[in-house]
Amino acid sequence: MKVSDLLKDDKVTLSMEVFPPKTTTAFESVNKAVKEISALKPDFISVTYGAGGGTSEHTVKLAKDIKKEYGVSSMAHLTCVSSTRETVQNQIKLMQEAGIENVLALRGDIPSETEFPLPGQFHYASDLVKEIKSIAPEMCIGGACYPEGHPEALNKTDDILHIKKKVEEGCEFLTTQMFFDNSIFYNYLYRLREAGVMVPVIAGIMPITRKKQVERSIQLSGCCVPARFKSIVDWFGDNPAKMKQAGIAYATDQIIDLIANGITHVHIYTMNDPEVAAGIQRNLSEIIGK
Ligand code: FAD
Repeated sequence: MKVSDLLKDDKVTLSMEVFPPKTTTAFESVNKAVKEISALKPDFISVTYGAGGGTSEHTVKLAKDIKKEYGVSSMAHLTCVSSTRETVQNQIKLMQEAGIENVLALRGDIPSETEFPLPGQFHYASDLVKEIKSIAPEMCIGGACYPEGHPEALNKTDDILHIKKKVEEGCEFLTTQMFFDNSIFYNYLYRLREAGVMVPVIAGIMPITRKKQVERSIQLSGCCVPARFKSIVDWFGDNPAKMKQAGIAYATDQIIDLIANGITHVHIYTMNDPEVAAGIQRNLSEIIGK
């Protein structure tokens, strides 16, 4: 099913995310996690893409398996930096052959010490959206957005103008970067709508269930960490079981607040952890009817 169809009404949707193995030998354990997450029957599962190769070859295979073997709608991510135009075009064709209906079109992070933009490559996600539209017009295309602004953006206004361009090129919905303070999301959504970006926006929630995840996630995303969240990590961080429970509870609380404020589409960065995915889903069973 196309993600754009899933997002058509105000019915609550809960989607989840998995990442492919970094090596072929790790495929078995990733497969097991994907099977267990699929068994929760989220509205769709997205599969990340390793920019510049690495895990990229497994993305299409996993997205295909999720749809065909486990009967859950899937979405493959695709990045365009660090790849030639030909590689990107081949990847789009591979997706088409695999029957993948949804793609999250991303620029990808620019490797450090790389000159940017590189000649002969796509520069921005909006260029990739345009390319996918021309090769595979039947595909539903999504894109990323950043409630706290993309780290490279001059300012939030400029960043939103670039999001608008991505939508004008054919991006049908947006998924946000993680955030830990819902008021930042509400404010951002208001600014998107004010700028005329009217496509559905899926709120991306990252359950932080391990102490070392905190530093890494924040370093990568540049997100603000509310004092309430810091206290949780300070108090429970050294006890893995307590930290996991507290992290699941914090993410659940964020999702309940979102739904109570009319935000009905939520994407959980489940990071190949079926226990975390199941924990959050269980906490929301009455609310999402699953
Ligand atoms: P863009 O939309 O191209 O924006 C990148 C920057 O360029 C922004 O600062 C923007 O303001 C600016 N910009 C855009 N257009 C223009 C223009 N025309 N002129 C000047 N500036 C412009 N990475 C992976 O490698 N694999 C994944 O699977 C993956 N999945 C992700 C999923 C989500 C939901 C999110 C939020 C991020 C994901 N990322 C992934 C990370 C993403 O690749 C990086 O954040 C990357 O730095 C930006 O990608 P983008 O598609 O948002 O880029």
